[in-house]
Amino acid sequence: MFHALLDLLFPRYCLACYGVLNRGEETICTTCRYEIPRTITQPAAQEALQQKFYGRSEVASLGAFLTFTKGGKVQRVLRALKYKGHQEAGELLGRWYGAELKESGFDQAIDVIIPVPLHRKRQKERGYNQSDCFAKGLSESLEIAWTTEILRKGKHVKSQTSMSRIQRMENVQDVFFVENPDRLVGKRVALVDDVITTGATLEACVEALKQNGCREVHILTIATAT
Ligand SMILES: [Zn+2]
Repeated sequence: MFHALLDLLFPRYCLACYGVLNRGEETICTTCRYEIPRTITQPAAQEALQQKFYGRSEVASLGAFLTFTKGGKVQRVLRALKYKGHQEAGELLGRWYGAELKESGFDQAIDVIIPVPLHRKRQKERGYNQSDCFAKGLSESLEIAWTTEILRKGKHVKSQTSMSRIQRMENVQDVFFVENPDRLVGKRVALVDDVITTGATLEACVEALKQNGCREVHILTIATAT
């Protein structure tokens, strides 16, 4: 009764279709949960996804839960997650994808989940990192720990004495770098991000992880752009 009254006074909306959520529905309505485009059911999207890393960094596997189309439901949900504070959307999609991955035994293939970091300043402005939300949801379903303490983004100042002037200039640009490498050595990592577009960001992260001794990198994203 109380919930019914609350729903009447303060209707909650589906982040994918903007329709009113019924009681018992959270974040994304039941219809959208069925209709939202899944990459696994689309061979062309799967193929396009694999091509993004072909001949580039060596990754053990590459998975994107949903397929992103301009103006579509996935774009709406990602916008809500990234720009409107709907962290619960990232967690929901992470739990959902994680449950399916666990069914296929993926939890046996990885040791730690690492989200693609934001620059500290950007994260402060937004208040959170959308990839952390996805990592948290995946972690819950897969029962594998996630951490932000290994991969970082920012101005990483290495020892500069042996570098040329150009190398020194490059060295102060924003980069992905690894902290606590002892926690990475020999590990199989699931590197996670919200959306894979060109793959350049993920590639830079893969390089940083591999240079610091991780054994394997699997990539998981919420969506792939077609
Ligand atoms: Zn909906």
